[in-house]
Amino acid sequence: MSKLIRTDVCVIGGGVGGVLVASAISQMGIKTIVVESQNLGGERLNGGSTKTFSLLSVGRLFEQIRSAQLYGVKAIPNGVDYDRVLNYIERTIKEFEPDYSQERLEGLGVNLIFGQAKFLTKKTLQAAENIVTAKRFIIATGSCLKTPKIDGLDEVPFYTNETILKKGGIPKHLIILGSMGGGLQLAQAFSLLGSKVTIIEKGRILSQEDPELVNFIYERCLELGINIYQDTNIKKVKNLSNRITIALTNNKEEKSISGSHLVLCGERVPDIKYLNLAVAGVDFSNDGVKVDKRLRTKNKNIFAIGDVIGHGFSEGRVENHAEVIIKNILFFIPATIDEMHGPRLVLTSPELAQVGLTESQAREIYKKIRVMRWPYSENYRAQIEASTSGLIKVIALDNGKILGAGLVGDSAGDLIHIWTLAIESQLKLSLISKMKFPFMTLGGISRQVAKSFFISNIFNKQNRLIANILKNFR
Ligand SMILES: Cc1cc2nc3c(=O)[nH]c(=O)nc-3n(C[C@H](O)[C@H](O)[C@H](O)COP(=O)(O)OP(=O)(O)OC[C@H]3O[C@@H](n4cnc5c(N)ncnc54)[C@H](O)[C@@H]3O)c2cc1C
Repeated sequence: MSKLIRTDVCVIGGGVGGVLVASAISQMGIKTIVVESQNLGGERLNGGSTKTFSLLSVGRLFEQIRSAQLYGVKAIPNGVDYDRVLNYIERTIKEFEPDYSQERLEGLGVNLIFGQAKFLTKKTLQAAENIVTAKRFIIATGSCLKTPKIDGLDEVPFYTNETILKKGGIPKHLIILGSMGGGLQLAQAFSLLGSKVTIIEKGRILSQEDPELVNFIYERCLELGINIYQDTNIKKVKNLSNRITIALTNNKEEKSISGSHLVLCGERVPDIKYLNLAVAGVDFSNDGVKVDKRLRTKNKNIFAIGDVIGHGFSEGRVENHAEVIIKNILFFIPATIDEMHGPRLVLTSPELAQVGLTESQAREIYKKIRVMRWPYSENYRAQIEASTSGLIKVIALDNGKILGAGLVGDSAGDLIHIWTLAIESQLKLSLISKMKFPFMTLGGISRQVAKSFFISNIFNKQNRLIANILKNFR
């Protein structure tokens, strides 16, 4: 027999967003339930995201050892013990586990239910043998991989970001379909560890990011020997004597490529399949749950956050959503989301960080913008540490108002902070250009790029004309 549970807030999904919101609101004395269908921690702990990035970090370490000779260090790499690499990744994940543990959540007063949540009415849902009725529901069920429709796919073995990380040796030749959701990270990681890698992408890699910045990642992939087929259609997949063979069309040319392992890293879709949203009075489409700027669905007692609302999948975004929800639910502050401006980070090599508008987004909105760039190669620290491949790019208005900043290169995710603060606090470029940075820091590129705004102002037509007139009086 079903048990009826009444609560103030029921969070559906115990992933990154769900756990963040539930821990905050239950600490304020609000009766909170989390319903999780699998394991707490979502994509960060159980999916491929942290694992793939950890693998990439190991790959980069191996690369450093191999290139140590260049700097006069006699380090002789002696191969990779893949099983131990995987043990290391498991240990890393264990470090994260306490934040998402049942003990921690229950200690904060959260009531946990393990089971698939399914709405029964606008105010109740079924979770395992329980019927939960709540004043408010928060849908935080994340996203899942969409299996592409490819002729022959159902007859070949394939892997995902998560399942490919299994013991038994480094795969010989990975064919990665799609570059989203960690496909590029996975490609770079395995390539650095010695696998041959081919990426097949139906569009362009990281198509939502600034192509000028993405190009650094593309070039890095080529340098690693990764074959990338963009704008490519797959016609058929076959398993021929334990080799995966793919027939594809690229640049109107038909090709066939073979590899040892096939990994699907393509389109991700909001995970709404078991929720029975129609009975809950919630609007949704293939793009996800429809919400307003306060993250409320059509049923104003049901909110949705994170990947499940679609239009981009990123950890930074989930955290922003969580903040908005907490303000709305806890403090009744009508906080709204600002999807254009939050910072995001793509954990590839080099990493790419962006805050505010990209150049093309700014051009759509403003008639005249200024674009400043500063390469890592002009920075002493980058030169000494041989990390000169990178760029900072800042978009501003003529009056120095900062619209956006993007970075690609080492530590991009850390260097973006100052620009996030500048945009959120509406600081002008002049302030950044006058800021004191310690000597020999990568951060100095932020000051240089800001200064370049004024240097080009100094040498503009008008000032040159004035200087020309004044020279006659010297
Ligand atoms: C390989 C990979 C690499 C990535 N790399 C990056 C990166 O470099 N930068 C970045 O910003 N982002 C990255 N991401 C995206 C990031 O991981 C996600 O945006 C983030 O984890 C989404 O958080 P969430 O809370 O919305 O969902 P999740 O963390 O996925 O949590 C959803 C939870 O809901 C549960 N659930 C689903 N349906 C139900 C149901 N009916 N009932 C109960 N529970 C349910 C699931 O089991 C899961 O635990 C990557 C993702 C992947 C897969």
